[in-house]
Parts: sequence; structure tokens; C-alpha cells
Amino acid sequence: MAASTPLPETVASEVEFPPNDLALQPSGKTNTANLTQPARVRLEVPETVGSRMMWGYLLTFIALHLMLLLAFVPALFSWTGLLLVPLGLYLFDWVGIGLCYHRTLTHAGLVMPKWFEHTCAVLGVCTLMDSPARWVAIHRKHHQHSDEQPDPHSPLVSFMWGHFGWLIRRDDESNAAGFYHQYAPDILRDPFYLKLERNVMWAWIYVAHAIAFFLVGFVVGWVGNGLQEGLRFGASLFVWGVVVRTLFTWHVTWAVNSVAHMWGYRNYQTRDNSRNSWLVALFTGGEGWHNNHHAHPVSAAHGHRWWEFDPTYWTICFLSWVGLAKEVKTYHTGRVRTADPN
Ligand SMILES: [Zn+2]
Ligand SMILES: [Zn+2]
Repeated sequence: MAASTPLPETVASEVEFPPNDLALQPSGKTNTANLTQPARVRLEVPETVGSRMMWGYLLTFIALHLMLLLAFVPALFSWTGLLLVPLGLYLFDWVGIGLCYHRTLTHAGLVMPKWFEHTCAVLGVCTLMDSPARWVAIHRKHHQHSDEQPDPHSPLVSFMWGHFGWLIRRDDESNAAGFYHQYAPDILRDPFYLKLERNVMWAWIYVAHAIAFFLVGFVVGWVGNGLQEGLRFGASLFVWGVVVRTLFTWHVTWAVNSVAHMWGYRNYQTRDNSRNSWLVALFTGGEGWHNNHHAHPVSAAHGHRWWEFDPTYWTICFLSWVGLAKEVKTYHTGRVRTADPN
């Protein structure tokens, strides 16, 4: 019954938009200054959000932000650890969240072999930004009601609400049993994603990967320079490769919801307040071209002008080239652009 609920329009393979949504194409001739700016009405917190807190989320956020202080301990610094921040950002956020959770699972902008899709989803899990099913469900709801009730995280409530606040206040709707079935039935039909939900398996995977970072550093340091160096180097990789990288990943990804719905330019007259922000795109591998994305949600390419860099899409092109991505959809046609490599 619930599983047969139609998917939101944002995941349909052929998406029809109201004419005014696509009135202006990024042809290079568009004068973005002339685009009608949506009225900035102030929104209330969605009615389904009560006064109860999401204590698990809140305590995790506080704990990780407190652990950030360890990054100021000189003994815990290492160049290897520092290098793990951009490497981890690319692997876990750009590939795990942007490419897999967002462009593949949420919007079906491309298709990957299941084993590879699952691998990329586990990379996304290692950012501690929710399970694939929950992330997808909340994001599809955002597209369905962007910047109007009941958008889960519109910054028109307040900047901090859109950035962070929405995560720590309990929303009865998104915690109801039918929520995933309404917004992410396709994800839950996959036994792999269902397994990640059971006993919050996804969160334990995050814990396991954090321990693995420490252990690898510990063994390398121990073998090279003894027990004390092992402990120091293991702690360094944990602090920089896990704590600093996770927090950086959180804030740049949350900025898509907050910054890229407030500041930036618009290529398209969408009905929401979405913007293109080069700064957010820089740190999220192209996810900051958010106005483009709201106009063409299914497109695997988020940069629509030649200079709107989109490293996540470049990665998708590479995967397509080596045969790990097919049916890549773009904003030109909304349909399959690349040939099926198989
Ligand atoms: Zn948005
Ligand atoms: Zn989206």
C-alpha cells in the first residue's frame, strides 16, 4: 500500500516543470540581473516540528565540535592527517553524498552497478549525515516544498534553522513510520539499504571507520617508531582524518541548504529561493549550483554555464568512461545523454 505511493516528481525519469520554471536558459545571453527575485517571506518552523529535541543528534554534534579542540594540540598534528581532510572530503562527501546519495539515489540522475552504488553509499555513511533512506526522503520532501511549508530546512525560517537547527528539533512527520515509505520506497526495496536502517547499522559503520583510521595510524607509527609514536600518529589520523574532516563536510553540505537558498545568483526562475553560490560549489564539488539543480533536479550535471565547475559531474563522466555509470541525464535533454557502455 504505502510502497505503491507515487514518487515525488523530482525522481521521475521524465520531469515536467511548470513553464515559468524553465523560462530562462543558461545560454550565456541571459541577464541574470533581470531575473525576478522571489519574495523573501519569512517562514515559520514546520507545524510537525514540536519542542522535543533529537537528543542523539544534538549530543553527537556537541561531542564532535568539542573534539575539534584536539586539532589545536600541536602533538596531534601531522601532514598525513592534514592531507586526509581534502582526500576525505572528496571521497566521503563529493562521491559518497553528492554523487551517490544525492545525484544517484535521490534523483536517479545516473545508474551505477549495484555493488558500486552500495560501496559509494557506504562512503556517504562515513560522513555521519544520516542513512541513505532518511537522507533521500528528507531531500525529496525539500524539493517538493522548497522554501514553503513544510520544507524541512528552509533558511527563510532563519539561517541557523536551515543550516543546522532543523536537524536537532524533532519533526514528527519525518520520524513517523510511513515517512520513508512515502518518500523513499525505492531505497527501502533494496535489502542493502534496509539493512543499514536496522539497529542503526549505518551509525555503527561510521564508528568502525573512525576506529579504522586510528588503528591504521597506530600500526604505522608503532612499526616505524614504537608504541608512543603509534598512539600519537593514530590519534592524529583520527583527529584530522575523521573529526576535522567530518565537521568540515557537515558545514559545507549544510551550506547548500542555508547559504545556497539565500545568497548567490539565479540562472532560472524557479519557484523557490535557490541560488548559485560559487563558494559553496567550491567546497561541495559542484553542489552549490543549487538554482540550476532546483530547475533541473534530475540532471547529473549541476554546473550549466561553461565556467560553473562541477568536479562531481567530472567524476561521473569518468565513471561513465570506465563503465561504472550509465544513463547519465543532463539538463540539455533530461534524458539519457551518454551511450550505455554495456
Ligand atoms: Zn534546495
Ligand atoms: Zn536535490
